[in-house]
Amino acid sequence: MSESMSFSQLALPEPILRAVLELGYEHPSPIQEAAIPKLLAGEDLLGQAQTGTGKTAAFALPLLARLDPAQNDPQILVLAPTRELAIQVAEAFQAYARYMPAFHVLPLYGGQNYTTQLKALKRGSQVIVGTPGRIMDHLDRGTLVLDKLRAIVLDEADEMLRMGFIDDVQTIMDATPPGRQVAMFSATMPNQIRAIAQKHLKNASEVKIESKTSTVERIQQRYVMLDNNQKLDALTRILEGEEYDASIIFVRTKSATEEIAEKLGARGYAVACLNGDMNQAHREQTIRRLKADQLDVIVATDVAARGLDVERISLVINYDIPYDSEAYVHRIGRTGRAGREGKAILFVSPRERRLLRTIEHATRQPIEKMSLPTGQVIEQRRIESFRAQLAQTIEAKNLSFFQDLVNDWREKLETTDVDMAAALLYMAQKDQPLNVANQFPEIREPHSRDRDDRAPSSGRDKFARGDRPERSGDRAERGDRPPRPRRELKGDYTNYRIEVGKEHGVRAGDIVGAIANEANIDSQFIGNIKLFDHFSTVELPANIPAETMQHLKKVYVRKQKLNISVDTGSPATSSAPRRERTERSDGSPGPRPGAAPRAPRKPRD
Ligand code: AMP
Repeated sequence: MSESMSFSQLALPEPILRAVLELGYEHPSPIQEAAIPKLLAGEDLLGQAQTGTGKTAAFALPLLARLDPAQNDPQILVLAPTRELAIQVAEAFQAYARYMPAFHVLPLYGGQNYTTQLKALKRGSQVIVGTPGRIMDHLDRGTLVLDKLRAIVLDEADEMLRMGFIDDVQTIMDATPPGRQVAMFSATMPNQIRAIAQKHLKNASEVKIESKTSTVERIQQRYVMLDNNQKLDALTRILEGEEYDASIIFVRTKSATEEIAEKLGARGYAVACLNGDMNQAHREQTIRRLKADQLDVIVATDVAARGLDVERISLVINYDIPYDSEAYVHRIGRTGRAGREGKAILFVSPRERRLLRTIEHATRQPIEKMSLPTGQVIEQRRIESFRAQLAQTIEAKNLSFFQDLVNDWREKLETTDVDMAAALLYMAQKDQPLNVANQFPEIREPHSRDRDDRAPSSGRDKFARGDRPERSGDRAERGDRPPRPRRELKGDYTNYRIEVGKEHGVRAGDIVGAIANEANIDSQFIGNIKLFDHFSTVELPANIPAETMQHLKKVYVRKQKLNISVDTGSPATSSAPRRERTERSDGSPGPRPGAAPRAPRKPRD
């Protein structure tokens, strides 16, 4: 991270700069520093960056700066692998463009009503953020026209490849005007991604944030996997359940330092924030108070805490993941000073898992998974702390006035010392109750999708999947899918029959995609798939709701209506004998019998 660069040096137009500063961003992240000037200059760009590095702003800010506000046709198209990411990116554009008059951004993803999307498209949007399947649908229907497009962004290109969207992506790229700017972001750079970059990008600059390896010693490093909305709860538990002298909590924005400090203050912590808005005198005063035990917790941004050297800090909490391993090393270096032991805890959301691995790799240190302190642990610590205060009071205070009162009350109330002490204890602990073992429900780790590192959605039913990949209505060409491992399933499963088979060119991945998306069944609940000539069978949970079955019956895969039914095991329902397709030993389907022609798309909703 650069110490000197600020957003105002990036030559962004005033309305965009104002929005960014208002969001509390102090400094551009490394990927932003590298990418923004190049994209602002109109260059194509290939960026290697993971979620959590600030890559969305790295492309959104400069592309917004190049937008023609007078023009209402789509000028920027962002392709994203999942609807969650599409929504997130669209929200980011909206936030960065809040001072740009008459600005419109539209997310387009599968599962959303076409009528709503068509209305919004008619109104006009300068920025479209969509999943490849739905964008293809709109292009095929002629409801999305890209003639005026100035820039296209491929976000998480390797994910799109992994999910089998890459043919759609290529088709969409081919449908954009030749002079448009291209920015491609990918966490990894497999050959197919490089090939696409070579084909579609012109004289592209390549931006990669090198993760320098550095050693960190004497610091115990752990991480907690959680969703953003669980962070505050997790933080307060850690501050109660962990042993530390003083702690520093790292967040990304100035506004977050203030917000969290305020919330911790309200819970009784001696806390202050440290951010770039504070003048030098104020900063120094805060650090003095920390050194003098007047403060126990500091909530800081990276730059504000740079060089902070306070021996008392024995716990660093990375509330927001740092942009790269260098920032991580700087942060955790705030503890373990002067040869003392230190602890560092990192909050990671499922989408940021890759960044966690990059950090681990760069620091050559394992970061161990930790579980949050339980209610029992917190209860125990509160009791111990109360007992310590009691012992100190007995030792240090002159209690004769109170002893007289106790003697007097024992008689008047006709009670015992134990009852009286218990009642006083009860009254004294009201602000911070001691009996809380059962009052801290387990904070559940968000579960990632099968083979995927994604955050869960709201979860509509028990099979609800996490961040959902988007697939087109009629699942045509799907290349480069990783092999589907054979599954050992637990629980009640039934074999279902679907009316699409080898002769239609179907692949196991098409079936998983269709069922996962249309029935909202996580792919981990989709069992073995057998492909026959005219139909296929698939193992699914036995208790799929009737309405889901009804819906699945009408879903098309390779132009065939699935017409799903419980498999009776006999070929009688089929006009052809049950001849199973040879599968590879890894359970994946064998090579496809020739490329199936691209079929016209059918709307799914
Ligand atoms: P991304 O890697 O694009 O998913 O961004 C991760 C998070 O970092 C988002 O919540 C952004 O709002 C935030 N963010 C991006 N850039 C900055 C910045 N320069 N300063 C503070 N926060 C940022």
